[in-house]
Amino acid sequence: MDIFILSHIHLDHSADINTMVESAKVGSKESNKQLAIGAPEDAFYGNAKVILDFILKKTDKHFIFKEDASYIWKDLKIDILKKHTHHGAITYGIVFNNKIAYHPCAKFEPHIVEHYPKSVEALILNTTFYRQRQNIDHLCKDDVINILNIVKPKMAIITHFASDMLEAGPENVAKEIEDKTNVKTIAAFDGAKIIL
Ligand SMILES: [Zn+2]
Ligand SMILES: [Zn+2]
Repeated sequence: MDIFILSHIHLDHSADINTMVESAKVGSKESNKQLAIGAPEDAFYGNAKVILDFILKKTDKHFIFKEDASYIWKDLKIDILKKHTHHGAITYGIVFNNKIAYHPCAKFEPHIVEHYPKSVEALILNTTFYRQRQNIDHLCKDDVINILNIVKPKMAIITHFASDMLEAGPENVAKEIEDKTNVKTIAAFDGAKIIL
């Protein structure tokens, strides 16, 4: 592991970050391994920051994500898209090497999704709910269908499931999404590896 990327500060995404950096840097047998971290600004600064100062000092490079900015780390290019809405936490769509896009936990907003590059190899979507919930800034299955009809990636990967998704069965939901969009859709599971 040589870069850690945080989509946003919420604990289900950030709780292990300090331990992970420590183990990658200090616990690594490769003593001169270069390590980077990338995250939105509120992960590094302010009252809600989740990256500790002494851990940040152990990294060789950090990227404070800003809207429409691009960053290079070794052979990885990271493009940050428009800011999403997610319960006050700063979070952005991210594209890796023009190939893989990531839609974080966020409300579905068509004018934000329009900025995703079209026809990427894979679009990862944090698909928290099966059914629509009012006033919760997370995607549901129908939002994902709308997004795929806008972005038209070659493949969709759904992940980050709440209990109603688990009850519906992520693989069944993936099939339902695929049938409605004609986009090959995979339900992620722990340890899944996808070869593009
Ligand atoms: Zn969140
Ligand atoms: Zn989340």
